[in-house]
Amino acid sequence: MDIIVCIKQVPGSTDIKIDPATNTLIRDSADAVINPFDAHAVEAGVALKEQYGGSVKVLSMGPPQASEAIKQAISVGVDEGFLISDKEFAGADTLATSYTLSAAVRKMASYDLIICGKQTLDGDTGQVGPEMANHLGIPCTTFIRKIVEVKDGFMKAERLIEEGYEIVEFPLPAVISVVKELNEPRMPSIRGLMAAKKAEVPVWTAQDIEADKERIGLSGSPTWVVKTFTPVREKNNVIFEGEPEKQVSDLVARLRDEGIV
Ligand SMILES: Cc1cc2nc3c(=O)[nH]c(=O)nc-3n(C[C@H](O)[C@H](O)[C@H](O)COP(=O)(O)OP(=O)(O)OC[C@H]3O[C@@H](n4cnc5c(N)ncnc54)[C@H](O)[C@@H]3O)c2cc1C
Repeated sequence: MDIIVCIKQVPGSTDIKIDPATNTLIRDSADAVINPFDAHAVEAGVALKEQYGGSVKVLSMGPPQASEAIKQAISVGVDEGFLISDKEFAGADTLATSYTLSAAVRKMASYDLIICGKQTLDGDTGQVGPEMANHLGIPCTTFIRKIVEVKDGFMKAERLIEEGYEIVEFPLPAVISVVKELNEPRMPSIRGLMAAKKAEVPVWTAQDIEADKERIGLSGSPTWVVKTFTPVREKNNVIFEGEPEKQVSDLVARLRDEGIV
């Protein structure tokens, strides 16, 4: 079974900064991690390879430092990884991102399954996986929480829904997106760490993946960020200290002062 896992590098903390001039995230390589849902996607890919044989590759679109995320994936059992990186991709919305990833998938030749995370922690749209399936003309099943079996060109899986789960069966090749309940991502092995250290991550440009210039980056994005801002905290919490009776009387006095009671 040949598997492609899409991984995105995201800020490792909630303390993210936005460039006020361009309205885009300031991505700091020192504080970047594999999107947590994508770590579960990587684990699913490696576990499927162990069970059914074949290969597992990762694909990421991002700045040059995203190759670190690819190496992390190699350290936990992924065979190889590819980075799609080019200034021409800047300003991509989800449609342009999914088109670009799909163009790279086409370059990677044959595959049976593409695994994405449910969503990212920064963009958070959950659109990229289903959009890739649309670009590639293959089925898509989202929110996979358990893979039951792969047999005769079909995958049987459990899909998380609001009331519980449903069992779905669909033909391969397909795109799936996975939730955290699916598995527990493994720690890297010594062998994996050595493989990651030695790994060369090929970097593909727009030209390498034969992308249509009208469909990538800002020009290929039908949506634009008009304005982004960090919400300003306008109210400060007041903490009353001392014995409970004193706290209550201080609170009541404060409410009276403010004209609330
Ligand atoms: C209007 C608009 C303009 C934007 N402009 C910029 C910009 O100028 N610069 C910028 O950095 N970002 C920009 N973004 C954000 C960028 O479009 C998103 O980061 C990207 O499209 C992925 O969307 P998402 O994070 O919501 O992914 P989701 O759809 O939530 O991700 C689902 C899954 O898809 C896969 N996936 C998603 N993104 C990638 C990726 N890059 N590589 C590999 N796999 C992936 C992962 O498996 C992930 O778990 C913009 C977004 C919008 C809406």
